[in-house]
Amino acid sequence: MKYVDEFRDREKAEALIREITAVVREIDSARHRPLNIMEVCGGHTHSIFRYGLEGMLPKEIELIHGPGCPVCVLPMGRVDDCVAIAERPEVIFTTFGDAMRVPGSRKSLMQAKAEGADVRMVYSPLDALALARRHPDREVVFFALGFETTMPSTALTVLQAEAEGIGNFTLFCNHITIVPTIKAILDSPDLQLDGFLGPGHVSMVTGTAPYQFIARHYGRPLVVAGFEPLDILHGIWMVLKQIRDGRAEVENQYARIVPDAGNAAALAAVGRVYELREFFEWRGLGSIDHSGVRLREAYARFDAERRFAIPNVTIADPSSCQCGEVLKGVIKPWQCKMFGTDCNPETPLGALMVSSEGACAAHYQYGGIQRQRGVA
Ligand code: SF4
Repeated sequence: MKYVDEFRDREKAEALIREITAVVREIDSARHRPLNIMEVCGGHTHSIFRYGLEGMLPKEIELIHGPGCPVCVLPMGRVDDCVAIAERPEVIFTTFGDAMRVPGSRKSLMQAKAEGADVRMVYSPLDALALARRHPDREVVFFALGFETTMPSTALTVLQAEAEGIGNFTLFCNHITIVPTIKAILDSPDLQLDGFLGPGHVSMVTGTAPYQFIARHYGRPLVVAGFEPLDILHGIWMVLKQIRDGRAEVENQYARIVPDAGNAAALAAVGRVYELREFFEWRGLGSIDHSGVRLREAYARFDAERRFAIPNVTIADPSSCQCGEVLKGVIKPWQCKMFGTDCNPETPLGALMVSSEGACAAHYQYGGIQRQRGVA
């Protein structure tokens, strides 16, 4: 199959691993401690586990699985808010499938549905808008979730609803932005990161310019990379070459998909409909300034948070849950005490076990490798 097999070619992957190993040997600091490279995007995490890439890399490289899965970073209190809206008798609550199983403090959306709430799975916000047209006597709420990747589609759906004068459609907006999050991670004293694999999908919308501060102010290289195994290995090789050469730049390995300037039409729709929140809470990472968006005042009538009373309470994760430490790369998924026992994909305790892009679910599904430090 053209354009897919080429990116999964074993011989090319092995050649890249040899190149990576050669570059690592030329980096002095790698003799004293691992080189920590964070893949920001959950899609990268999924591919890394699916193709066993972590186990193929030299032991001097540590991949840190970052906070790039929007389902995984949804705080428990926001899930409770979803459930509260969904349980209102007049509401049809619509959501993507993976969000249905994220645990709240009392129940998930799936459990609320089992108890009688009208929760429906949709494939796009336009499906939710179509439901609103078909059910003018009900309030249709769409659970808007995701980074800049999905923001344009919900913004365009709001604009469509406005153009049609639809009055029974709202968003419960949980969109988040990637750049303040990377900044918060770089400011975290827990983490010593040497470089980043930048997100491929988000960058299709934003372009590469928003990452320049990482190189300029924090002196870390970032390479936007695709999701096939060779994309990821190539991206890691590009990051390592920058470290070896003492450079810190933003490079684009995924130029076949990601324009450096981003998508102007998508950015315009996002800018028209949304504004930054002062702060937004992330599961495991706490509150991060300007890391989420809400609907602008001009679109307030499409905002579920303004239409319905919601609990809006911050709920701490269960003390046994170590999602925050995994999200920050402090521990690996299998080092969580709950991994594979009390927490598994059937009965997830933490959000990282829900979505296939969550580090714990990906590791559980593909049986990642527990590399023993010091053993070749
Ligand atoms: S195993 Fe479960 S509780 Fe532990 S970090 Fe992963 S998702 Fe969170």
